[in-house]
Amino acid sequence: MKILLVEDSAVDRQQIGAYLKEWNLDFVAVEDGAEAWNLLQKPDAPTLVLVDWVLPGLDGIQLCQRIRTLGANGTYVYAVMLTAKDRNQHLLTAMAAGADDYLAKPVDPSELKARLLVAKRILDLQQSLRFAASHDFLTKLLNRAEILASLKRELSRSEREEKPVSILMADLDHFKKINDSLGHAAGDAVLRDVAERLKADLRSYDLVGRYGGEEFLIILPNCGLSVATRRADEIRCLVCKDAVVTTFATVPLTVSIGVTAAGGTQNPTIEDLLQQADEALYIAKKNGRNRVQTFCGNHRPCSCLPSVSG
Ligand code: GH3
Ligand code: MG
Ligand code: MG
Ligand code: MG
Repeated sequence: MKILLVEDSAVDRQQIGAYLKEWNLDFVAVEDGAEAWNLLQKPDAPTLVLVDWVLPGLDGIQLCQRIRTLGANGTYVYAVMLTAKDRNQHLLTAMAAGADDYLAKPVDPSELKARLLVAKRILDLQQSLRFAASHDFLTKLLNRAEILASLKRELSRSEREEKPVSILMADLDHFKKINDSLGHAAGDAVLRDVAERLKADLRSYDLVGRYGGEEFLIILPNCGLSVATRRADEIRCLVCKDAVVTTFATVPLTVSIGVTAAGGTQNPTIEDLLQQADEALYIAKKNGRNRVQTFCGNHRPCSCLPSVSG
């Protein structure tokens, strides 16, 4: 939990800052609302704001109002309004503007600590709810809705920055046989293991989600079709190289992958891209599984980029 202290009074800033430092909390202090607002819009922004009511320029009330406009699906920012004693009767105004709590000035350290404890509890809860809503329960990968939302963002970015983005549709081969022969729990263990392997192979800005039962969607930003095909084959090798060891049995496994890309002269819709990846995957299955098939041109899979098989 990173804290942002917004206080124009140097004395109060130093005093509150000294408490935060004493408790080894990660914080940054700024003198005005505009600077705070700039910071809050950056990636990895603080999630807890201690904001003075009266500030030059953008004041505490206006800052709270802006904080509440921050992305509805982003991380919640918890705001504590610092108020001089004579402002207590106006607390409703602060809460209506978006403050979650308040603290009277001069700040009493025990009260400050109590407010921070509550804030941390709420923020932790929000984070775990957010994780549950965006991730698949079994594999802990992004869930279908979240990987599709990510694809939408990455497609917009690809258009804006005129850079390619590739997608890989990976489907485990003959997965039903594992369930049928070893049981559903063994199938679940295999899915978890595959998810770990996929995560291990990706870069921090690549994205992977569970698209369906035994189907995974992988997004490779800033990656063109030929590199994506090579990466897909690395993933295929990683899945089939070592059999998956479960408590039920050791399970050999292969995967088929359809690959397509957007960018350059092509600006396909999400639906087009998914359809293309799916068509390529279908060809990979038809041609014997355990292989990578690239989609290219004219909405038809073709062989101008070779398919890669194990
Ligand atoms: P193909 O090579 O053509 O993809 O064959 P397949 O057997 O992998 O494909 P099919 O679509 O026939 O079967 C997929 C199976 O995946 C059926 C379904 O029961 C299983 N499955 C889907 N979700 C889960 C899950 O969460 N856990 C387990 N254990 N199995 C699942
Ligand atoms: Mg002030
Ligand atoms: Mg399938
Ligand atoms: Mg399958």
